[in-house]
Order: sequence, then structure tokens, then C-alpha cells
Amino acid sequence: MKTLQKYQCEVCHTEYARKKDAEDCEKSHKIPLSIAGARHLARAQNGTGYPATITVHMSDGKDIIYKR
Ligand SMILES: [Zn+2]
Repeated sequence: MKTLQKYQCEVCHTEYARKKDAEDCEKSHKIPLSIAGARHLARAQNGTGYPATITVHMSDGKDIIYKR
């Protein structure tokens, strides 16, 4: 019987046979650090009250906009 070993990216949980592949996967992810801004629409356009877009400050220094 043979014992198998695998490695898992701690960010996306993908499993790899090689440690380096899991490390490279972890390094590739940009981690959200904070919400840098939010854009709301008028109540007549969006009655939910939730923002239409948010700007997220990422670990690589970039601000990325996400839309609903
Ligand atoms: Zn990953």
C-alpha cells in the first residue's frame, strides 16, 4: 500500500499533487482588504437600498469595482 500526499491552496481550497503548485496558487490570489467606496442609485431606480457597485481595495494595491 502506498500513502499519497497532496497540498491544498488555503485561499481557494484547490488540491494539488505538487507543493509548488499549491504555493503558486496561493500567491496568485489577490485578497480583499477593505471597501474603498460604494455607489448607490436613487430609491426610484433601486428600492433595495443596497449599493449598485462597491470598490474593493486589494492586497496588490489596486481598487477593483464589483457590480450587483
Ligand atoms: Zn488557490
